[in-house]
Amino acid sequence: MYTPLAAGTADCFFCLLLIICGVSVLRPDIPWRIGERIRRVGAGALLVPYAPEETVQYSADALAALPAAGAPMLVNADYPIADDISGGDMADYAGSGWLVHPLLGADYAALCAAVEEATGERLLIRDAFRSRAEQEARYAADPVLAALPGTGEHETGLALDVCVTGYGGMSFLKTRAGRYVNNTAWKHGFIIRYPIDGEAVTGKPFEPWHLRWVGAPHAEIIHRSAMTLEEYLERLGEGWFSFGGTLLLTRQPMADVYSVPEGAKPIAASPDNTGCVVIVCRYGAER
Ligand SMILES: [Zn+2]
Repeated sequence: MYTPLAAGTADCFFCLLLIICGVSVLRPDIPWRIGERIRRVGAGALLVPYAPEETVQYSADALAALPAAGAPMLVNADYPIADDISGGDMADYAGSGWLVHPLLGADYAALCAAVEEATGERLLIRDAFRSRAEQEARYAADPVLAALPGTGEHETGLALDVCVTGYGGMSFLKTRAGRYVNNTAWKHGFIIRYPIDGEAVTGKPFEPWHLRWVGAPHAEIIHRSAMTLEEYLERLGEGWFSFGGTLLLTRQPMADVYSVPEGAKPIAASPDNTGCVVIVCRYGAER
């Protein structure tokens, strides 16, 4: 039988249920947390597929003659580096004694300047290029933490482990510089290579200190789309064309000739260590 008290009690329970459910439903919308990427519907949406009506061909030699630019090469357990890369190919970063890939020095200097201006803290390198012999020694000493020789990015000179004095490893995120780097390194061509939610893809837990230079526009697309480098290359596909902002990107198996849409002008071409080449083109009004 209906009584106002019973109805009131039921309403209260209903309200309580709504509040509990509401809180749990809202939790995924908690604003972006530092160093954490939240998988979202539409991740990767910055890459828009494109089907050109006409393509033209460029020779491998013509693309190889383009100035060196980004480096979206994938190095992991599935795609190790075939050869020992010589330290002689590296550059001493700003007289620090740290050897880095020559392509990333200017971007890293710009990142350091931006960090200092925004946070007042000084970004420092803890580790950079490692020779194959160094990696073998580390692996022999600690096969759990150290990457199998050939499968670690430090052997390419494209990866940097950074810190603030007294704050290395996970505690890097306790510093303003650490949080700033994790949110904005992409503006200088770097990605957080092993993001917090990427272990299932990368095979490595979150490393907020490990920066990997891939260069523009790759870093921006990877960061803003909340992808790992593995997912980015997969998303580019093989033989596909995609717009990433105003630039046109295509990833194609290594060959003597490559196709790009008519009207597109290749500006960079980089082998990705998976047997493909990633080509970046200006297109349309950007030409
Ligand atoms: Zn590292």
